[in-house]
Amino acid sequence: MMKKIAVYPGTFDPITNGHLDIVFRALEFVDKLVIAILVNPEKSPLFTVRERMEFIRKVVPADDRIEIDQFHGLLVDYVKKKGARSILRGLRAVSDFDYEFQMALMNRRLESTIETIFLVPAEKYTYVSSRLVKEIASLGGSVKGLVPTEVEERMKEKFHRKKGIKI
Ligand code: ADP
Repeated sequence: MMKKIAVYPGTFDPITNGHLDIVFRALEFVDKLVIAILVNPEKSPLFTVRERMEFIRKVVPADDRIEIDQFHGLLVDYVKKKGARSILRGLRAVSDFDYEFQMALMNRRLESTIETIFLVPAEKYTYVSSRLVKEIASLGGSVKGLVPTEVEERMKEKFHRKKGIKI
C-alpha cells in the first residue's frame, strides 16, 4: 500500500504550540509527516532557518514518521519531490480562510494530484500566531503556554540582547 506522506509547510518563526497541536493531530492519520520550513528571502524572520529547524527538532516527539526539512521555490514541486500527495495547513479562524483557500486552489491548479488538508487546532490555540507571540515577547510579555519552553527561553534571550540588556 502507498504510504500517506504529508508536507506541513510554514515559516515557523518560531514554532508555537498551535503548530505542534496540528503536528500531533496529523500523526493520527499520516504515515509520514514532513515539517518543511519555507526559506523566503522576502521575509525577514526573527530566527534563522537553522535556529527554526533546531527548535522544531527539539520540540517535536522523537518519531520515525517525522522529517524536518527546509525548502525554497514552488511548494508543489517540493511536495512531489518528497513523494507526498498532500499539503497540511492549519485553520485558526475565518481570517485564515481567504488566504488558505486561495493557496489551496492555486496549488491544485499547479498540480491537480496534490490535495490540501486543513486541520483545526484546539480552541486554546486558535488565537496563537508566531507574529503575535513575537510581538508580545518583544514587549516583555509572557508567552508561557503558547510556545514550547525552549522557544520561550530563546525568545527572551533574543529580545534582551536586542535591547542591549545583559542577562
Ligand atoms: P505561513 O507563513 O506559511 O503562514 P506559519 O508558520 O505562520 O507560516 O504557519 C504555517 C501553518 O500553520 C499555516 O497553515 C497556519 O495557518 C498554521 N498555523 C499557525 N499557527 C497556528 C495555530 N495556532 N493553530 C493552528 N494552525 C496554525
